[in-house]
Amino acid sequence: MLTPAQAETLIEQHLTCLPIESLPLTQVAGAVLRENIYAERDQPPFDRATMDGFALSTVGASENSGRLRVAGTHNAGDPPVKLSDPATCIEIMTGAVLPQGCDAVVPVEVVERHGEFAEIGRKAVPPWQNVHRRGSDCRQGAPLLHAGSRLSPPEVAIAAGAGMARLRVSAQPMIVVISTGNELVEPGEVIQPHQVRRSNAYGITASLRQHGFTRVADDHVRDDEAQLLDRLGFHLRTHDVLILSGGVSMGKLDLVPRVLEKLGVSMVFHHVAQRPGKPMWFGVSQSGPAVFALPGNPVSTLVCLARYVLPALRAAMGQAASEPPRISLTAPVEVSVPLSFYLPVRLKTDDWGRTSAEPCPTNGSGDFTALAGTDGFVELPPGPNSFPKGFVARFFRW
Ligand code: AMP
Ligand code: MG
Repeated sequence: MLTPAQAETLIEQHLTCLPIESLPLTQVAGAVLRENIYAERDQPPFDRATMDGFALSTVGASENSGRLRVAGTHNAGDPPVKLSDPATCIEIMTGAVLPQGCDAVVPVEVVERHGEFAEIGRKAVPPWQNVHRRGSDCRQGAPLLHAGSRLSPPEVAIAAGAGMARLRVSAQPMIVVISTGNELVEPGEVIQPHQVRRSNAYGITASLRQHGFTRVADDHVRDDEAQLLDRLGFHLRTHDVLILSGGVSMGKLDLVPRVLEKLGVSMVFHHVAQRPGKPMWFGVSQSGPAVFALPGNPVSTLVCLARYVLPALRAAMGQAASEPPRISLTAPVEVSVPLSFYLPVRLKTDDWGRTSAEPCPTNGSGDFTALAGTDGFVELPPGPNSFPKGFVARFFRW
């Protein structure tokens, strides 16, 4: 049976990158950039005053014992001016272009104004004090953002600063979340004692939305071959990614793998040496869409989603891969199965700012009530094994 790492590699090898779309800057938050962005101009583009005060020549100031005539006022946005006489200074506002002939700004707070004169005192002013020098942050043409970065607020501001009105980003995948099972009843509808609430689709959809995926549809299909063929066939024609839950185990009505193969979805793997989530199935349709068929037990569904599907979606959007963070356990854990084990945890931060993972075991893979308040899960390597307090494991966020 495949290890989780092998399953992950196989998924990566079978994914195709999503198409690129051009979006206005107001709509790119959270998207994955698909082009490099370069500095439009030197940054800052001119010697910029960083304080409200007086722009002067440091040589002129020392030659005139710190007493300079104020020759004018210069605001942010005003075209450049020149200091014609080093015995003068120019009142200047933050963000204004440093006048030619000046090499420092003395803050207004330390200057005494006597009529048309500014008294800055006899202390020498260091050259370039309170001046943000042209090109000191970066030079024109310098690479600022790289394809594959996820656009958070600083990146969006940087792109705007580089003059980009639109950005080329990965198109959002069209995802459909499909629950299967005759026993499932929609929240809000009347339920019989032998029936179960359809909760997985809501958990999956919440996760996808939380991770920035916006084009998410939802369907429910009974354990009926004809209905599965019809509905899954439709979704394969209309979506990029299908995420199913249920119907992939060994039961008589676990029809999902067979139906998918009939619809031309080639199986890449079925079963991973892990608990929970062992029956997970993954395949790719000849027509393009990727199909993740997750086991129906609610803990298994959410674990497989965060462990495999979210990273795969990020990769398909062109996002550079990143290793999951490592975190240590706050308490020892016993695992009795010789499989990779996913243990739900709550993150704790101690008085020194160190984060660790408090184990929150569930009562089996059907017990999702125990997940309330957890942040994600850690991956423990195959046992049977005792993991001591302080054991460092890879952490996956829900
Ligand atoms: P299955 O993988 O279809 O064999 O389902 C395993 C267990 O998960 C069964 O007890 C199902 O009733 C339950 N289950 C399947 N799908 C869902 C769902 N969408 N929401 C809640 N429980 C589910
Ligand atoms: Mg089922």
